[in-house]
Parts: sequence; structure tokens; C-alpha cells
Amino acid sequence: MDVSVATGLWPVGVGKQPGREKLDGPQGRGYNYKMIDSPSDDYFMREALRQAAKAHEADEVPVGAVVVRAGKIIARAYNQVELLKDATAHAEMLALTQAEAAVGDWRLTDCDLYVTKEPCPMCAGALVHVRIHRVIFGCADLGAGAAGSVMNLLQMPGSNHRCNIASGVLQNECSWILQDFFRKRRHQQAGTPARSTNQKSQI
Ligand SMILES: [Zn+2]
Repeated sequence: MDVSVATGLWPVGVGKQPGREKLDGPQGRGYNYKMIDSPSDDYFMREALRQAAKAHEADEVPVGAVVVRAGKIIARAYNQVELLKDATAHAEMLALTQAEAAVGDWRLTDCDLYVTKEPCPMCAGALVHVRIHRVIFGCADLGAGAAGSVMNLLQMPGSNHRCNIASGVLQNECSWILQDFFRKRRHQQAGTPARSTNQKSQI
């Protein structure tokens, strides 16, 4: 199955990635497209994945995020667009609001945000506004990703703040949970039961 067509998502660094060449274009200049696999990044992304799983259980698009400051998680959130009936209730936005409350300031210059999917333009804009230090995401979003896939709002030339970016952390798990969600939704809409598949076959 062509997962990029089915979900608009593609696990970073896995297989052929249509549109990857865009990263070398003007909007992708300076994009830090490196693979990170440090134990701490894995640890925090697993917590973001647990948040994404909660979204999945709640029938929300499964994206989860955590904010980390000085090695500690200060905010956890998952996508709640349907529950709150709020199109801005993405995991990143909710996590940032929590983090601002925890820090007692809108400036999050010493914080990092882990999110299972590449941020959209709205969230990327918010991440720059709060001056987050580093953004770590799991799978790329070739349809709407604003951290290098379609555009790179996190590192805009002339911006008063640029975030460091790392991608590909637990990318297969982050991608799989989204693929699983959309596969089940398609089957629900078609009125047929979703077949269980193993994770590897979906990547
Ligand atoms: Zn978003």
C-alpha cells in the first residue's frame, strides 16, 4: 500500500519518499534533517506516543506531545479537536499552554517539544511564538508538515526565533498509529471490519 497516498504521512527515512527533494529547496534551506536516536529522545517520544494512544482510544486523530524542561516532562497532551470541538486543539497547542502555565511565562526558551507527527503550520507558528528551543518529531507529514516537508516555519530566515529540529525519533511507531487510525476509520465508513495487521507490514 502506498501509505503516503493513504494517509499523507511517510515515516522519515523509510522507503521512497515522494517530495523529499523539497527539503533541499528554498523553503527547506537550513532544515536539520538528521536522524536522532538518543536514549532520552526515545524516552520522551514514548511518552508522546502514550498520549497519541489516548487520542486513538478517544477516536481522535492520534497525535501526542510532551514538553520537556531540564530533563523533566512539564506538559503532556493529545489531539482533542473532536472532544473540544476546537480545530486549534492540536496536541502541540494544548501542551504549550500547559507548559506556559507550568513555567509561569509565555517564553519557553529552555524547553523542548516532542510530538509524534511533524507539526502543522498553526503549531509551528505557535512553537516559534513561545520560542521553544528544540522540536523533535517522529514521522514526517508530507501533506502539511511545516517543519521541513512542505515548508519550514520553524527556521524562517529573518524570524526573531528559530527552533532546532530533530526528526525520525521512533518514526515507525509514530507513523503506524496514524496509519492504523485512518485504516480503521476507512473500514468504519465502508461498513466493513478492519483486518488486524501487524505493524511491520504497514510500514
Ligand atoms: Zn498542529
